[in-house]
Amino acid sequence: MSSRINTRFDVVIVGAGLAGASVAYFLSKQKNLSVLVLEKELEPGRHSSGRSASLIRSVCGHPEVDSLAAEGTDFLLTPPPGFGELPVRPTGSYFLMNPSEAKRLGSLPGAEDVDLSRACREVPLLQATENTRAVFTARDGVLEVSCLLEGFLRGARRNGVVLRTGEELQSVEIHRSRVCSVRTSLGIYSTGAVVDAAGAWAGDVADQAAGLAVPSLLPARRHLFVLQAKDPIPETWPYVWDLDRNYYFRPEGGGLLVCLGDNDPDSPRDCPRDPAVKGRLSQRVQQHLPGLGDFRVVEWWAGHRTKDASGKFLLGPDRDIDGWFWAAGLGGHGVTCSPAVGRRVAEAIVRGALPRERASGTSA
Ligand SMILES: Cc1cc2nc3c(=O)[nH]c(=O)nc-3n(C[C@H](O)[C@H](O)[C@H](O)COP(=O)(O)OP(=O)(O)OC[C@H]3O[C@@H](n4cnc5c(N)ncnc54)[C@H](O)[C@@H]3O)c2cc1C
Repeated sequence: MSSRINTRFDVVIVGAGLAGASVAYFLSKQKNLSVLVLEKELEPGRHSSGRSASLIRSVCGHPEVDSLAAEGTDFLLTPPPGFGELPVRPTGSYFLMNPSEAKRLGSLPGAEDVDLSRACREVPLLQATENTRAVFTARDGVLEVSCLLEGFLRGARRNGVVLRTGEELQSVEIHRSRVCSVRTSLGIYSTGAVVDAAGAWAGDVADQAAGLAVPSLLPARRHLFVLQAKDPIPETWPYVWDLDRNYYFRPEGGGLLVCLGDNDPDSPRDCPRDPAVKGRLSQRVQQHLPGLGDFRVVEWWAGHRTKDASGKFLLGPDRDIDGWFWAAGLGGHGVTCSPAVGRRVAEAIVRGALPRERASGTSA
């Protein structure tokens, strides 16, 4: 521990999920900044970022998310040179909804309001449902998320970012409304900037470690199930999300990955599975996808989608504390939006509360 006392980093990022890793990646392009990423787990990606449905959702109909999602999708479909392999299945997606909502969403760039029969032809498991249309988005698809996380972290480390796994942030010293240092489970580091990218723990980190009065960041639990049926499911099917009936599915390993749209408030913790949700699976699958026939559950898990009470992402500098930056509250959009989140937060750090000689002397 003693060797780490009084080590200085310009920026300390808390959390090596997609949010923290992406901030580190973009910040690492600033050659004269020293950056430390703290991850309390021994492996990055053990929580939300390792438990997602891996969907690229480029259009959602909320302007703020859509601009991040569009930028994120550009990055995911065409990663920059040297990023490494980033496998994507460019399947497209069908979102099912009522006609007036389909008209609105289908008018957005990249989206197309189409007849439900087209979706039923491409995805024969779907049934015709009255008063429902489909919005097709060609740029959507399925991504290998572990490669995205690795790509961010590899790129960041190549440029000198230090990643310390198994090291937990415990407290932040703030003097005259300015971040001064952090204490971890293994040492103390002086720093001018902290990025709160702690996922489900982001509110706790700010509140308990730094004593910041925070907006309420609420983790909610969601489950995913991988089902295997008699007939194999083609990998090329677009993914389907029925907004009115609140479920989605996509091909996975010859079977289906299914989400029942559960969204139950939870506390920050290693998100456990709830057998009650699994208990509802058969009935919901029979109701919405009767053509699937008998199936068995091959795998199931739960993860947190963490949102601010306002529903907006928390990005960039804190209003009250100099040197405190947010990269949190990404809800169910953190895979698609992570490249844009990282770029914007990194730019805010470089522009903002770092000592001026550093902020002005660098370029992206
Ligand atoms: C079931 C499910 C399906 C989803 N599907 C999709 C999808 O298809 N497409 C999409 O775009 N998004 C999806 N999401 C959302 C996406 O997974 C999240 O928005 C994203 O992973 C959030 O990343 P994060 O880095 O903020 O959080 P995390 O990945 O949870 O990372 C936070 C990290 O901070 C660490 N940490 C916490 N406290 C400390 C501390 N004190 N010190 C050090 N480290 C700390 C944690 O260990 C953790 O590794 C889904 C989410 C869920 C749960």
